[in-house]
Amino acid sequence: MRVGFGFDSHEFEEGKPLMLGGVRIESPYGLKGHSDGDVLLHAITDAILGALGAPDIGELFSDEDDRWKGAPSELFLEEAIKRMRERGYRLINLDCVLIADRPKIAPHKSKIRKRLSELLGIEESRISLKGKRREGFCESEGIACMCVVLLGEER
Ligand SMILES: [Zn+2]
Repeated sequence: MRVGFGFDSHEFEEGKPLMLGGVRIESPYGLKGHSDGDVLLHAITDAILGALGAPDIGELFSDEDDRWKGAPSELFLEEAIKRMRERGYRLINLDCVLIADRPKIAPHKSKIRKRLSELLGIEESRISLKGKRREGFCESEGIACMCVVLLGEER
């Protein structure tokens, strides 16, 4: 078995669609970034890549590469899952914390977990998603995410 940890954070950007876990959330602001800024998918992608000992998301998908400008972050996650399967591993479970003062995560939780279960190909019961308030964690306004994954060898 292999464990992986992912962290990411993005500042708010007015007028950009807000994407969290592959779900579009109704909001007057989105997350700044080269891609769609989906902080949750970035953290999960990095956790899976980390568990594999693979290069991280920034190395695989450079923000100086125009191919990834405005790209849906699902592409990054798909690449990580592909690498995981090629290496003979499967995802056992993941545990994520979204750190955000706004929007409230709770009303969107079930939709996001459902989407993650589709993207990751595992049951929702294996996906934990928690929303936490910033409480002074970082100065600028935005959303941060921490995520732990456990991979097991494919039987
Ligand atoms: Zn990111």
